Amino acid sequence: MFIGHYAPAAMGAGTGRIKLWQAFVGAQLVDYAWAGLILAGVEKGRVTPGFTEASALDLYHMPYTHSLGMAIIWALGAALIFGFMFRKQAKAGAIIFGLVVLSHWFMDLIVHVPDLPLWFGTDKYGFGLWNHRIVSFSFEVGIFILAMWYYLKNTAAKSKAGRIWPIALIALMVTVQYIGNFGSPPNSIKEVGITSWFIYTLFAGLAFMVDRSRITR
Ligand SMILES: [Zn+2]
Repeated sequence: MFIGHYAPAAMGAGTGRIKLWQAFVGAQLVDYAWAGLILAGVEKGRVTPGFTEASALDLYHMPYTHSLGMAIIWALGAALIFGFMFRKQAKAGAIIFGLVVLSHWFMDLIVHVPDLPLWFGTDKYGFGLWNHRIVSFSFEVGIFILAMWYYLKNTAAKSKAGRIWPIALIALMVTVQYIGNFGSPPNSIKEVGITSWFIYTLFAGLAFMVDRSRITR
């Protein structure tokens, strides 16, 4: 899953307990780690054009970042670190951040083919929405926009910029989703790792601009 991961993030930020940029980092935290482990050759995948309609990624080994058990550990660790780093946001902020991190696995479960284990070496799960390109694209864009609407409803623009940044962010993200689902497949899995780092950081940076231009209602 790609921009659909940002739906739980926007919901979390809509509570006013965590910033949008923090939630954006949290939603993709395990994918940041996944990209690193793919580049290091610890987790494994390959680009197989036509693997599913919406994604060419055959992700056959990723227990450290994409098993349910490890997702829980990542979420707990992330909540603890968040609590230390952002004391002002109190326990509620840390809990919501942890839940956003945990949401990654469950959101992936909807679109991935069965490549998500519960733990190392167990059976793998995935409902396979990626087999239906138009359905999965509409689903991801739909839940993302709904969640962003919730976030925008719970915050107010400080000035004109507070209305422009969210529109720019949403437009860019939907465009990148479109390219991902309908464009030509990537050249290699390592390229996917590097591109992921770049794109996730770009999105978080733009989310930071949204944070700066809006206040919680
Ligand atoms: Zn993932």
